[in-house]
Amino acid sequence: MIKSKNKIKIRYLLLLLLLTTVPLLTAQQIVTAGIIQGTNGYIGFLRGNMPLVISIPHGGYMMPDEVPERPCINCAKNQDIFTLEIGMGIRDEIYRQTGHYPYVIINNLHRTRLDPNRNIAEASDGNKNAEQAWHQFQNYIDSACAEVEKEFGKGLYIDLHGHRHLIKRTELGYLISSEELQLDNELLDLDSFVEFSSIRSLVSNNLNKLSFSQLVRGKDSFGGLLEEMGYPVVPGPGIPYPGPDEPYFSGGYNTTRHGSSHGGTIDGMQIELDEELRRDMSKRDKLVSDLAYTIIEFLRIHYFRDADFVRVMAPGE
Ligand SMILES: [Zn+2]
Repeated sequence: MIKSKNKIKIRYLLLLLLLTTVPLLTAQQIVTAGIIQGTNGYIGFLRGNMPLVISIPHGGYMMPDEVPERPCINCAKNQDIFTLEIGMGIRDEIYRQTGHYPYVIINNLHRTRLDPNRNIAEASDGNKNAEQAWHQFQNYIDSACAEVEKEFGKGLYIDLHGHRHLIKRTELGYLISSEELQLDNELLDLDSFVEFSSIRSLVSNNLNKLSFSQLVRGKDSFGGLLEEMGYPVVPGPGIPYPGPDEPYFSGGYNTTRHGSSHGGTIDGMQIELDEELRRDMSKRDKLVSDLAYTIIEFLRIHYFRDADFVRVMAPGE
């Protein structure tokens, strides 16, 4: 009697397991099928349904014969290892936390073949196939940002990278140089610096009416939120600027092109994760989930207070 009761219990549990896993698998299949592939799969585009666009320019692995190594000598060709995995992880994690997907644009070509965070001449070095991939990468970001602007009125664009500097901390680029960041807040808040920044639109329109310096290195800045989760970040409240001789990436071609320094209501930010952080497999899941949470919080605090895509769902919701 007890045995058969247990059997029924096990059957019931198996059925429950089946019922709960089937919808998850279906969602996964939709995501996989939802990748729009550029020519030969060099560039990938995943549509989203929230005002967030993430591009991953340097995480690709493909080295096809028809796109030979770029002949340039003094150009950077190193891959930003694991940024592809981390970026796709952030997409899945944001979906898990909010039920919404960010737009994601991926360059699958290795950086020796294409560098889509450069102008076309330096990016592809004259190779026609690389040029075509560069155009597709940029056009996908353009159309994602246009869709976000139309649907939501404003939004955030993130160019995701990894650096190999010896100082192990996350670097955030807003198109403000290391020297400029060394200025006092009063000076940094002058229009002459704000108007060249990739978050120019946010400075003129943010929910808490914060100044530029507060948005860049205050408590509720992206650096401040990430610091709160235990990560060293520059700029942020703890490390407001890099030291005079310390290396720092302030943002490149993509942040300039797709952020709001030239106008528009999509702000831009370059995130550079340090190498140790990216390589540590034991902490990768936590990193991905912390980054996803920080991005959602940043959107919720400064852009869209009550929207459903910034509301983190309770487990099982
Ligand atoms: Zn990079």
